[in-house]
Amino acid sequence: MTIEDDFYCAEVLSGRTAVRTVQETADVIAFRHTRPLFETHIVVVPKRHIASLLDPTLNDDLLLSVLHVVQAVARDVVAERGAGRVQTNLGSYQDSKHLHWHVYAGGRLP
Ligand SMILES: [Zn+2]
Repeated sequence: MTIEDDFYCAEVLSGRTAVRTVQETADVIAFRHTRPLFETHIVVVPKRHIASLLDPTLNDDLLLSVLHVVQAVARDVVAERGAGRVQTNLGSYQDSKHLHWHVYAGGRLP
């Protein structure tokens, strides 16, 4: 995996790029986006390689584990900001080919 197609395996999960973790379980990590697009911008990823939400190797247990962390992070974001968005991109909209969820709120950064 190269940084171009999978930033999460190549940089974050390998430990090559340090991240500010906000929540972590055995299977999932949530951290502040390294190049945030919004005032509050957190990324949630499974620790094992899953290409996207549509990856057939994404089993129900891992999907639920990921969504529990997305939910917990979103709860904190909404408590802090009063609003939030949860998004995962697919196909050509997905830059890094490792399942990741954006949880974000606040103004768009320049
Ligand atoms: Zn990966």
